[in-house]
Formats: sequence, C-alpha cells, structure tokens
Amino acid sequence: MYCQVIVDIVHENVASPFTYRIPDGMTLEPGQRVAVPFGPREKEGIVLSLTEDCDLDPERIREVLRPLEDYAAIPPELMALAGEMAEKAHCPPAETLRLMLPAQMRGGRVHVKTERTVSLAVTPEEALAAAGQEKRSRKRAEILNILAGQQTISVKALAESVRDPGDALKKLAADGMIRISETETLRTPDISFEAPEDPGFILTPGQEEALEEILPTLKGKGGRFLLHGVTGSGKTEVFMEAVRKTLELGKSAIILVPEIALTPQMVAWFRGRFGPVAAVIHSRLSPGERFDEWRRIRRGDARVVIGARSAVFSPVRHLGLIVVDEEHESTYFSDHHPRYDAREVALSRCEREKATLILASATPSVLSFARARRGDYMLLEMPKRVNDRPLPEVELVDMREELENGNRTVLSGALRKALKECAARREQAMLLMNRRGYNSFVSCRSCGYVVKCPNCDISMTYHLGAADGLLRCHYCGQAMKPPEKCPECGSRYIRYFGAGTQKVEEEVQKLLPGIRTLRMDYDTTSGKNGHGKILEAFRSGRASILIGTQMIAKGLDFPRVTLVGVVAADLTLNLPDYRSRERTFQLLTQVAGRAGRGDEPGKVIIQTYKPEDPVIGFAARQDYRSFFEDEFKRRRNGLYPPFTLLARILVESPKEEAAIREMERLEKQAGALLEAHPEWRKKVLLMMNDTPSVKVLRGKTRRHILMKLLVSREADELIAALTEMTREAQTGTEVWFEVNPTSML
Ligand code: ADP
Ligand code: ZN
Ligand code: ZN
Repeated sequence: MYCQVIVDIVHENVASPFTYRIPDGMTLEPGQRVAVPFGPREKEGIVLSLTEDCDLDPERIREVLRPLEDYAAIPPELMALAGEMAEKAHCPPAETLRLMLPAQMRGGRVHVKTERTVSLAVTPEEALAAAGQEKRSRKRAEILNILAGQQTISVKALAESVRDPGDALKKLAADGMIRISETETLRTPDISFEAPEDPGFILTPGQEEALEEILPTLKGKGGRFLLHGVTGSGKTEVFMEAVRKTLELGKSAIILVPEIALTPQMVAWFRGRFGPVAAVIHSRLSPGERFDEWRRIRRGDARVVIGARSAVFSPVRHLGLIVVDEEHESTYFSDHHPRYDAREVALSRCEREKATLILASATPSVLSFARARRGDYMLLEMPKRVNDRPLPEVELVDMREELENGNRTVLSGALRKALKECAARREQAMLLMNRRGYNSFVSCRSCGYVVKCPNCDISMTYHLGAADGLLRCHYCGQAMKPPEKCPECGSRYIRYFGAGTQKVEEEVQKLLPGIRTLRMDYDTTSGKNGHGKILEAFRSGRASILIGTQMIAKGLDFPRVTLVGVVAADLTLNLPDYRSRERTFQLLTQVAGRAGRGDEPGKVIIQTYKPEDPVIGFAARQDYRSFFEDEFKRRRNGLYPPFTLLARILVESPKEEAAIREMERLEKQAGALLEAHPEWRKKVLLMMNDTPSVKVLRGKTRRHILMKLLVSREADELIAALTEMTREAQTGTEVWFEVNPTSML
C-alpha cells in the first residue's frame, strides 16, 4: 500500500503531495498525521489518499515512519475544504491544512495529558476484608478502604487523604489487589462566567416566524438565512432555539462571534443551557486547554462550539448548523496568510455538509444583504424589539453650532443635560468615542509641524499616564516625551488637538464630580480578562458611565442603559476607504441599539459636524433599508465592490529606492501579463502605481499598485497569475498581494 502525503512545508519549489510506502502492519486513513522522511530530515505530513499501486520507481519510494495519532486529525469534510481553499487562494494545500488544527499540534508542542490512576483489581468486598486484616500498614488499609468506596481514583487525589502513598501502592499492586495505570485527562478551561438559569422565554411572534423557516431545514439538506433583526429584537434567542433543535437531531452546531472576550453573556448562556456539550474556543486558553477542547470536539463529546472566526474550522461530527452572529463585523476576515473570510468558509462548509447557515445582524454587510435580495439567502426580518419596546429616540446635535455658541469642549449642551438627568435617575449611560488616548495630535502653532512617529508616517497621540503624559504611535507602539519646543522652528507654541477617550472621561468627571466611570479601549483591556472585568463592573452597577471605542458597540446587552452618546460621529466617515459609509452606519446604529433594552425607554444623542449627511440620518432613524439602497446605488455608480474587485500589490522595504525599484519591476511584469492576455486586460478598469496614504510604517517605506477589476472569470484568472507573480520578492523587499483588503492604508 502507498499513501500520498502533504508534507508540512511551504516553499514555492516544493510541490506536494509526495508518495510514501506504508510499512507492513501499519494502517492509515486519509486525514491522519504522519511522520515521514524528507531529504535528510523528518517532517510531519497529512495523508491525502491511499493507493494500491504506484508508478514511481519502487526503489526510490521511502516509508512512512509512524502515525502521529491513531485517528484522522482532519476529518474528510475538512480535508476537502482545505483543498478547495488552497485552490481559491492559489496557495499550497499545506498552508490551508494548517488552519484545520490547533497550531500547537504541529511540531509536537502539545501532548495528551495523562494522570496516574489507581483502581481495584478485586471486588469492593474483598478490598474491605483485606483492609480489616491489614495490620502492618495503616496506609495500605486506608487506601483499600477508599478504593472500596469509589473503585478508581487518581494518585494525586488519593495523596490528599493518604500522605506519600507511593510505597503502599507498590506493595498493593505487587499483591494483586490494585492496578495502577496512566489515564488520559482533559484540561478543562476555567471560564469564570456564571451560568444563568434558562430564562424560559415565551417566544415573540417575530422569533416564532423566523424559527418556522429555520427549524425544518435542520432535518434536511440545510438552508441559508440572513436574519436581519433590529437591535434588541431577540436574535440570540432564535439561534439558541436552532442550536437546541440541532442537538436534539443528534447533530452539531458552530456559533461564530466577532470577538469572544466581548460576548461573555452569550458564552454564559450557552454554558448554562447546553452544559458540557458546549466548547468555548477562547484566545486565552492555554495551548494544552485548546488542544483538549479540540479533542473533545473531534471525538464528538462537545457538540456546540462557540468561538471567533477560526472556530469555523472546528472538526465537529455531523455539522447541522453554523451561526455567524454580528455578521457585518470585519473581524471575520483574516488578513494573515492564507487569507480567508469566515463567512465564506461557513457557507462552503454548510453546502458541503448539508448544514444550515444563519448570518445574523441588525446592520448586515452590504454584500450579504445584496445576496439575500438576489435570493442566495432567505431573508428573515425582525423589525420589532422584544415586548414591543420602542427603539430609542435619537437626537442629532450639530457641533458647528456648539462652536458658534462658544462651547469648545467635546460634550454638547444637549449631551451634558442628558448625562446629568440620567445620573439623577440613577440609570446608566454609554459614551462612544472611537479614538483612544487624550489628544489625537500635537502640532506647532507657528509653523504647522505635526509630531509624527519616527518609524511610521503617522501622527502621534498624546496619552495621560500614571506619572506623566507620553506620545504614542498607534501602529508600532513607539512612545516618547512630547517636545517642549518645535523641532522645526524652535517655537514654544506647541498645542494639543483632537480628543480621545481619556479626554472624554475627564470632561465627564468635571461635569459630574464623583461619578463612577469606566473606560474600555485598547489601553484598558490588555490585561488578562481585561474586557470581562470592565463589562462585569458595569453590569453590576459599580459604575454609571461606560466610555469606550467601538468595542462598546458590539452586541452588548445592559438593561439599565438608557442613554447613549456618540461624541464624534464623523471620525469613521472621513476615512479614505469606500467602506467608510457602511462602517459608520453600522457603528452608529449598533451603539444606538445599546440604549433602552430594559423596561425604561432609551435616548441617543449623536454629535456630528455633518448632520446633513444621509448616512448620519439613516443611522439616526435606524433605517437599514434606505441606507442599503443608497449605498448600493453609490457602489454601482462608483464601480466599487461588490460590482468590482479591488486589488493591490503592496511593496515594503527599509530602503526607499528598493521599494520603488521593486514596484516598477512588478508593474512591468503585470503589464506584460496583460499584453499577453487581451481578454484579461478588458476586465481591468484601473491599474496604477501610487504612494499609500501611510508612506512609512514600522520603519519601512511603502509603495503600491492599485487595481480595479470587473467581477468575472477573467479577473479571477488574472488574480491567480498575479498571486503567482508576487510570490517571490527581490531581496530586501516584501511584497503583499491583497484582494479587497480590510484596510487600504
Ligand atoms: P439582539 O441580539 O437582537 O439585539 P438579544 O438577543 O440580545 O437582541 O435580546 C434582547 C433582550 O431581550 C435580551 O435581554 C434577551 O434576554 C431578551 N429576550 C429575547 N427574547 C425574549 C423573549 N421571547 N421574551 C422576553 N425577553 C426576551
Ligand atoms: Zn514650528
Ligand atoms: Zn509608529
């Protein structure tokens, strides 16, 4: 017998798979990991297929050394998925196969944990009798008594009641009274979320109608749904019911969330309702815990998996359902190589494994909604909040008028008043400020010089610190003392401009002295369980006002929040990206949706310099449909995705000339490709070299070639050719080829 093995090396000159002979007595199956000889070394690989014959010279075929596990680590469906993804991403399958396993399994960096256990080799009655006769050793008698009661116990647990049991155990084993063995144990993650009771809701009519469509598909060939429900319409309850049904049918479910640290409530609900069949894939699991959770899933012991985007690769048995919650979030897209979009992977898995897909959001991505309208997904709408709670009332505040009236602070008169009233009623408020730090930039009033990071072409942000304030770069982390004099003109007229979360917190403290505030941004959430601690403190009422960046907009449910303030609505709108309107609408609508989720009605105040911008208006009215129609038309007219593909070749180098030379070389090559393929050229609307808006990043000069392609088969072929072309860069430069990247900076 022979097997074809995808050896775990990624190198452009190595074309896997390789054929190996299976030694007599060894049995293997596709998906199993093996150790194989490769050149002078030993390598890991994954069995792709088995064959009886092989037309290679038998002398030259080497033998598999050993299997790494006695089961297939990658089930057949995921083998097929890895193959398909490799083809789409134009990369070797060894790369996509890596996505299917916990990273630590490669190179044997994580092992099955075992534990010494003791069990009785005789009946409990015999053990008790022997214990009674055991006169010489109290320890031995005690051990026998304990084992008579519980048959099996770990040596560690035993040592808690019997000190140093080693010798006594040896003697008992030699006498044939007990057996000592190594048993596998699981490292169960300690998730400190309390499991709340099943609330036993009576479903709302909207939830009933959605489930009427979803549940029947779980039995059969699966379905594709876009669940569009306003904030607070009870979407979670819909997919909890769908999960329950999936489990009843003996199938498994995967729930994807944008970021697991921001969904402690959902995790707690799942643990509470589904108990040990639920596995939580958390980024803070230790390698051992992660491996053990993976094995529980692989064996079928865990049948509901909840996690961030990489959980889409969970090797569950009999997949019945995948839910993508808050499907519009950009965290579902992975920029690391090999790049993937967890929503697309989910769709492909559901199709292959005949499972149901539910994409859920109050603000679906333009792409998903367009597909639903085309009929690719069935659109389920829940336009009402649970218990007919009203959507919050939204007030727009024109910050230009505030300025005219002499208010130079970040809080408008209306927001100040509302905060005071909210505090007087002892209710809670949330303030969104989508920028961290104190001031956003520091500049010289005399000559206009702006302090930039020495490694990046980006202005530095002023942060208050425990001792002193520092300027920090938000891209590379570089920190420095703010200058006292302008380095350009020597003027002492240095000013601090723009506000961040720290400044907002300070203003709130001035407005309401002694009020308890919490700040949630990148700076306050870096520690262990940073998010969890802040969210828990706010939930328990230990603070009245939560101030934060976009983190606070993500699906959180705090019933006591009656006021939401958006301090600067225009921050995301002004970004140079075709998606900035979509992102702004989503962010504003989501954060507004945090208000009035309990019994008291909610109020939202949006501060903006552009109250006339339609996107701000759509968000204020929570009018998704109008936003979508407007945006869809704009994309069609401007030839933006989903009507076109944007691609770019990004070149980075510590030396500017090298970056430019490499960009010019690649541009020539691309030109030659189009010369040779007129049919590809017809689909290219634009191809030009340019300087990105961030010219230097982490000390490297950047240049890029931008492309806009009409969606077509020819464009796909061109992308494949460009992928091939950009695989190898000239020494001293790095080249990235990106298609519809999340960031175009
Ligand atoms: P969404 O995700 O759509 O914004 P959630 O799923 O968070 O909304 O639900 C909003 C709130 O309503 C939650 O506090 C939830 O527990 C509650 N809820 C959901 N369904 C029901 C129901 N059928 N009856 C009463 N309360 C419900
Ligand atoms: Zn100056
Ligand atoms: Zn920097």
